[in-house]
Amino acid sequence: MTRWLAALLTAAMASLTPAMSMAQGKIVIAHRGASGYLPEHSQAGKAMAHAMGADYIEQDLVMTRDNRLVVLHDLTLDQVSDVARVFPRRCRDDGRYYVIDFTLEEIRQLTLTERHEIEDGRPMPRFPGRFPPGMSTFRVSTFEEEIELIQGLNQSTGRTVGLYPEIKSPAFHRHAGRDISAAVLDVLQTYGYTRRSDRLYLQCFDPEELRRLRRELLPARGMDINLVQLMAKTAWETTMVYRGDKPVPYDFDWMLAPGAMETIAAYADGVGPWIGMIVTEGSPRGRLVFAPLVKEAHAAGLVVHPYTLRADMGHLPPYAADFETLLDIFLFQAGVDGVFTDFPDRAVNYLLRRPTP
Ligand code: CA
Repeated sequence: MTRWLAALLTAAMASLTPAMSMAQGKIVIAHRGASGYLPEHSQAGKAMAHAMGADYIEQDLVMTRDNRLVVLHDLTLDQVSDVARVFPRRCRDDGRYYVIDFTLEEIRQLTLTERHEIEDGRPMPRFPGRFPPGMSTFRVSTFEEEIELIQGLNQSTGRTVGLYPEIKSPAFHRHAGRDISAAVLDVLQTYGYTRRSDRLYLQCFDPEELRRLRRELLPARGMDINLVQLMAKTAWETTMVYRGDKPVPYDFDWMLAPGAMETIAAYADGVGPWIGMIVTEGSPRGRLVFAPLVKEAHAAGLVVHPYTLRADMGHLPPYAADFETLLDIFLFQAGVDGVFTDFPDRAVNYLLRRPTP
């Protein structure tokens, strides 16, 4: 997109009234789009999330071989595209097809599809009740294309829906000679997201990278935006750091220890914990065990946006009788400020219908 068009869209966005939803002071974040209904990170799923009234739409970001940012959750293409059919010889020794080994032009040749694994030559969907793998045609989008979709919809609907991008695996990208965070900030700046008052949260699991953003990258660009520290369990190995050439899992244990929220508040504006860090897993119905995380985060001045609330059969925690109860537990019993959900319509409707106290 040309710069003048970007400037025009930015100006149009600024003239709009602030978001109308944010019902009951809570925000609904469409996790990878309306991913309960359409393939994650498809533009169709993002448009659907916008129409459903989400306050923010999430973008996971990884880099291509030619340094373009694409909206994909994994560092690999295997589970959400037909890459193994289109480029059968391009996997690494581990059998995986890495985004960073493909140019954008090559990735544009792929069909994006519902998340699945191949078992005995057949696609096995991660969530069997959702959109079927291999149906219809979806494409991988660049970060720019997705922002233009959301800003365009903001103009045509008069609703200002925000961005909630995630910088994926900065250490992996740095090890491959790329500075993914700098690239993300360049795009955000081009499209007018530069201040804390803009409708944007930038999230990352890697605390070292968030500190680098706050202390170096943002001030160097004259930018000051909202940062969110995602929280994981060390054993999940979501975040790898490098000792020489060897990737080792980042040790997240300090984040669940007393005083951690104060430490995070020195460089971030919010936290994105896993739901099991707020309501103890195995809590019996009606006798929920809440961790002190939300209170401590609020005391430190941080907002709390846990992930991920899902309504699929078999994915509801045993302590919640239904999805609306799950929403009530997190939004009004635990008191979080917003939720990541694959079902933004259900969360928006729940908030709109709930009587204001
Ligand atoms: Ca994410």
